[in-house]
Amino acid sequence: MARRQTPPRLSTLRRTAVLVLSISSFATACTSGGDNDTAETVFDPCSPLQIALSSSVTDAERAGVDAAIAAWNARLPTQIAASADEALYRQTPRADDVLPIEFATKFGLRAAYFDKTGVIIVSSELLAPEEFGVAIAHEMGHAFGLPHVDPSVRPSVMNVGNTTLAPTVEDATEVATLWPSCSITPTGP
Ligand SMILES: [Zn+2]
Repeated sequence: MARRQTPPRLSTLRRTAVLVLSISSFATACTSGGDNDTAETVFDPCSPLQIALSSSVTDAERAGVDAAIAAWNARLPTQIAASADEALYRQTPRADDVLPIEFATKFGLRAAYFDKTGVIIVSSELLAPEEFGVAIAHEMGHAFGLPHVDPSVRPSVMNVGNTTLAPTVEDATEVATLWPSCSITPTGP
């Protein structure tokens, strides 16, 4: 049942500004950790969660979404499913278990999670198709409540600018700390 809610750990933190969490080096809002990375709207990946895509999604875009879902599911008992049902994608107000991913052109960032509205936007121009999977896994990490991880701390899917490293065991452990429904021993290596 618990979806799109603020985990108890974050319950006292509320922000009014739209927080842009981007993997793009162009993004001035991209920080390397700390409270600025605390997302307002977060989703429980281990309860049923629907990724809503436009019916006009391309094969490469859909493959990127599927790769991101698979990368998280390789680490945690996620219950994430993607749908290209246009009605679901455009639903207003959205159900609490719906996380839209919009592929955009003329978007100034490579990818971002807008935590105020609970939407991921991915640039289909600034990212190569083979980068979609990790970039989306990174933004999903923000949607699950993860902040950035500085590369000097550890390799992580949440390293700023990461387009190559899939979620790690440590990343999965952080998600499981936020969401009890994910609390199994994350699978390695
Ligand atoms: Zn980020």
